[in-house]
Amino acid sequence: MTATNSPKHLKSKGLKATSRRPALELCSECGLCDTYYIHYVKEACAFLHQQIPELETQTHGRSRDLEQEDDLYFGVHNHMMAARKIEPIPGAQWTGIVSTIAIEMLEQGLVEGVVCVQNSPDDRFQPQPIIARNRAEILAAKVNKPTLSPNLSVLEQVAQSGMKKLLVIGVGCQIQALRAVEKELGIEKLYVLGTPCTDNVSRAGLQKFLDTTSRSPSTVVYYEFMQDFNVHFKHEDGSTELVPFFGLNTKELKDVFAPSCLSCFDYVNSLADLVVGYMGAPFGWQWIVVRNDRGQEMLDLVQGLLETQPVSSQGKRQEAVQQGITAYDKATTLPMWVAKVLGVAIKQIGPKGLEYARFSIDSHFTRNYLYVKRNYPQKLAAHVPAFAKKIVAQYKLPK
Ligand code: FAD
Ligand code: SF4
Ligand code: SF4
Repeated sequence: MTATNSPKHLKSKGLKATSRRPALELCSECGLCDTYYIHYVKEACAFLHQQIPELETQTHGRSRDLEQEDDLYFGVHNHMMAARKIEPIPGAQWTGIVSTIAIEMLEQGLVEGVVCVQNSPDDRFQPQPIIARNRAEILAAKVNKPTLSPNLSVLEQVAQSGMKKLLVIGVGCQIQALRAVEKELGIEKLYVLGTPCTDNVSRAGLQKFLDTTSRSPSTVVYYEFMQDFNVHFKHEDGSTELVPFFGLNTKELKDVFAPSCLSCFDYVNSLADLVVGYMGAPFGWQWIVVRNDRGQEMLDLVQGLLETQPVSSQGKRQEAVQQGITAYDKATTLPMWVAKVLGVAIKQIGPKGLEYARFSIDSHFTRNYLYVKRNYPQKLAAHVPAFAKKIVAQYKLPK
């Protein structure tokens, strides 16, 4: 490459770990600013320039149809389903569909490397992004690191490696920045496998959450906010601890989530080709959203390893969401026995399947809308996408 046709970003330099990022306290540590792609940060950062509809069109050929309820909530998609591995991967977050797709893509030669995140050797919750090049490295990245993770920090290594076919696994804010710089990466075929994501925390915030909520914070191996309205903590000895959502210490936990995540409206990872989560599926199953043909190509690789069923929807969410807005705003913490009774009742009669996913999206979008309105009023109009404004407008919000 001659000096005259060098991309402009090669003249930039990533920031040191200790330097403040351009998005300041809203930075979700996606990793872009650790690389020379910081050159594009003003356009690419999810917190400096919200451009989900434009990037949806770039990626899927159209942006979501706000008049169509499934599109409004779950983004552009060809179809959705519930699935689980017939033989789950032990120690995966759910049944390991994400890791399995990544392994198949690598072993069948669709990609040369997989951007994913392992943990540091001395701390199971400290993220360590890598470019995995074999099955063992992908498997070592299984299970959520429930902390902000600089997945894009390895993008410079991708460029240096000369790879032309790449799979990136990541959450919404990472994928928005990735899509914004996609054309500069020198990749001929980029596949993006996303997970939904909400309520993420810094490593210090995670410690506070564990200390406040679990009976044994130091033995927690993983946790998930599940569709049965409980937080499930899995401990080293294999035991599971359930804490009802309604019993969480809201007062203590209000400031535990990262400011980026309290300002985030890309819960469903709108810009991935394929999304694998759980919240639109029955309890114990994973929820798959195929956004485009590339996503279908990825899913096809593992169809024979999955049990599947159509998505379904049951119950009504709106009243529970409206009550939750007020309770959260007043930082109400219920006595544990009341929380348990309420949890059991809501599990019986509450929203299920896609209606549970809508419950969770409504609850998070209303909370986050209020957070941005109160803390960054000057950002509200441009930062909140039109789909989120429409969802929030269904509810009565406190001042
Ligand atoms: P596995 O096979 O265990 O693989 C997990 C993959 O996630 C790995 O490839 C790893 O690289 C990647 N990963 C782990 N931590 C991070 C991270 N911090 N940032 C980026 N990538 C990471 N789903 C919902 O339906 N609703 C939710 O509210 C929800 N919240 C989530 C919050 C976080 C912080 C994360 C990371 C995921 C969340 N998910 C949510 C997705 C869900 O928990 C599972 O990750 C998903 O269903 C895949 O499960 P699996 O068994 O197939 O994954
Ligand atoms: Fe940079 Fe990413 Fe932070 Fe934005 S979120 S400032 S792109 S590291
Ligand atoms: Fe990024 Fe949003 Fe997840 Fe926070 S909640 S880590 S901002 S995708």
